[in-house]
Amino acid sequence: MAMGCREVRQDIEGFVLGALPPAREAEIGAHLAECPDCRAAEEHCRLLLCEIKRTADKVTPEPDWERTVRSAVAAGIQAERRQSHVRRVFAVVGSMAALLLISLTLWSIADRTVNPPQIKTATKKDSAIGGGLVSERWRYESVRAAPGSVADGVIVQGASMYLLRDDEAVSCVVAIDTATGAPRWQSECPSLGYLAADRSRVFCLASGGSRTLDLVALDASDGKVLWRYSQGAPHRLQGACHPIPLEDDRVCWTIHSTIHMLDAKTGKPIWTRPIADEGPLSSAAVKGEDLYVVTGRGLHCLKADSGDESWRERFAEEMCGQAQPLIALAGKRIYFVQTRLGAAPKLFCMDLDTREVIWKRSVSGARFLLAAGEKIYVRGRRILALDSRTGETQWAYSAAGCNPLTLVDGLLYFVDTNKHGSLVALAQRTGRKAWELPDIRSCDAFTKIGNTGYIKTRDGIVHALVLCSAAQPGLEATANGR
Ligand SMILES: [Zn+2]
Repeated sequence: MAMGCREVRQDIEGFVLGALPPAREAEIGAHLAECPDCRAAEEHCRLLLCEIKRTADKVTPEPDWERTVRSAVAAGIQAERRQSHVRRVFAVVGSMAALLLISLTLWSIADRTVNPPQIKTATKKDSAIGGGLVSERWRYESVRAAPGSVADGVIVQGASMYLLRDDEAVSCVVAIDTATGAPRWQSECPSLGYLAADRSRVFCLASGGSRTLDLVALDASDGKVLWRYSQGAPHRLQGACHPIPLEDDRVCWTIHSTIHMLDAKTGKPIWTRPIADEGPLSSAAVKGEDLYVVTGRGLHCLKADSGDESWRERFAEEMCGQAQPLIALAGKRIYFVQTRLGAAPKLFCMDLDTREVIWKRSVSGARFLLAAGEKIYVRGRRILALDSRTGETQWAYSAAGCNPLTLVDGLLYFVDTNKHGSLVALAQRTGRKAWELPDIRSCDAFTKIGNTGYIKTRDGIVHALVLCSAAQPGLEATANGR
């Protein structure tokens, strides 16, 4: 480390948090302009804070994660007490963010060493993994994995998987071949995650040169940067959504209180629309010519080609929320979850033609919403399947955890983090357990393509799992009989 770098690193958390005296901030800013190593450290710190912020913004964090953090915080304070810069961070921030930053770092280190992966690579003799239902095709290690983060999720598009890989102090996007697990490329552009992809591009968020949060498009064939869009507003480490690639080479990105519609080929804005003073925006849901976004105060319908407002519905008091709303579209209806501090989140079903609320109900701890056909699935304290016409519970399944629900070919997949954790598949219709794979802990979505499932576990390993015939739909009765 060169002269000056050590001092800069000691204050880097304070710098990112905006907690330093102006003179010191200017010194560090000048150093960062000259020193790529320290810029990388700053980037890493921003990523961690981004994740913490996301987690802290959730009104109801995952119960077991909360416990983990609490105990890690206690251990972290003991372990780090002697380091003076840590004390300075506590002093200047005085908030959960600094505690979480340290505990998160320690926790992820501890998790990698204490908790080795339990899945074995399949051999001819060793076919009894998951009761003979699953064998591992390949695995890929050292993937970024922060507990509770939505930033570092892996995505699968076509024959490639995209993920964030820790490369020394920074994270970069890596493409791997889903058939073999072999890396195809690693981007040179440091990324904050929030990955999305269309057929020819990978989109991710990255820190911009002038303290902004940028949307970057990478060439899906080689990882080269195609374009970078700077949305102008300062890096506020919150309110970011995953970019949403649309048909016709457009990409829609919601950040803070503004929706950006970009040309995916060039990164040029087609339109941008701020929605001020209504609290955090949901991600945008696009259907044909209409784009919908829910705020803490109302529902907005915009023209997808111009951003002009078609109509807006201001909510009655009971429909207003304070956290980022969840949103799902199905047919002529929009479903959204609003959260208020100190109250159970509420799910509303609204008819888009009449703009009337058809039904509403409490959904305790809701953090994920999926609308599919006749049913609405909610992941909260339990997993609920609701009748989309009435909102009534059709079945419920008790499971802890935070990973998104995945619905493929009649099975609903998720990770239950109770005890040692497991990947569970339920029959979509009945809620009966079709099969379960033990020793899986993850906050990341399970993806399934053909007979292969992909999941990133908390130890930073991506597993490609071949599901044997008994774990395939149509044969679920056999698996049930086990
Ligand atoms: Zn330096």
